[in-house]
Amino acid sequence: HLEERLPWRGTGDELDQLAATINGLLDRIAVHVSRKQDLLANAAHELRTPLAAIRSSIEVTLNEPRSVEDYQELLGELIEENDHLENLVNQLLLLSETESDRHFIHLHPISLDQAVQRSVEMFRGVAEENGLALHAKLQPSWVKGNVEHLRQVVNNLLDNAVKFTPEGGGIDVTLRRSADQSTVELAIADNGYGIPTEEHDKVFERFFRGDGHRVPGEPTQGTGLGLSICAAVIHSHNGEIKVESAPGEGATFRITLPLHDLRSEDQYGEVGEE
Ligand code: ADP
Repeated sequence: HLEERLPWRGTGDELDQLAATINGLLDRIAVHVSRKQDLLANAAHELRTPLAAIRSSIEVTLNEPRSVEDYQELLGELIEENDHLENLVNQLLLLSETESDRHFIHLHPISLDQAVQRSVEMFRGVAEENGLALHAKLQPSWVKGNVEHLRQVVNNLLDNAVKFTPEGGGIDVTLRRSADQSTVELAIADNGYGIPTEEHDKVFERFFRGDGHRVPGEPTQGTGLGLSICAAVIHSHNGEIKVESAPGEGATFRITLPLHDLRSEDQYGEVGEE
């Protein structure tokens, strides 16, 4: 019954205002419910594809006797499909958690530079393996946030930067406080394949995957959920995320978050990572 509206009209300013507020809330709930329904439908669709692939590989192999090598190859394929499914389910859970947390999330003061540094260190090995230079320049910055969710954002962005930058390229991570100390900007920039202008808004949509041809010889393996998770987390922290990119020149993801003023803490000692 979300379409129903309160019928009050012209019965006094306060009642009108109350009706408008409640109708606004109903609209928001309706949007939320329809987004959840869309997510469920999309998720079912996305889960069906790897499940169908697993079933058909098994069927084909069962229909006639095979060599041990064939069975080994099949098991290798099944593990890959299984990993993809596991990744998809984990991302879906995270997305559902971050989206439903949006209005109720409890934020604690955390050191953003330390959180980012940990992610950068985690990616150093994989960057090296892919022949990429990874540099970080981080100003000390405190924000009110959920440290797990914010690290997930940095991990997703670094994961993409590594995936979409060819060997010999570089990734720069910078964290800079604004001059008036009201916000902090986190930029993750790569000099890889880049994103066409018409896809700049689409990349934050759930399940959007770019044209795999951009990465020569490799189909896009991802789930298309990484950046939608980033957007959900950043919005739940009252921040903004945007992309700047030109094809062939790399991509820069910029996040702005409100800075937490440490002086407002009563107990300095309580400030810390969870
Ligand atoms: P996934 O990486 O799982 O495909 P994402 O939501 O993280 O999903 O990204 C969506 C799409 O945005 C990617 O498929 C890719 O086309 C594009 N994209 C994201 N990050 C980058 C990047 N750093 N460089 C080029 N393209 C990118």
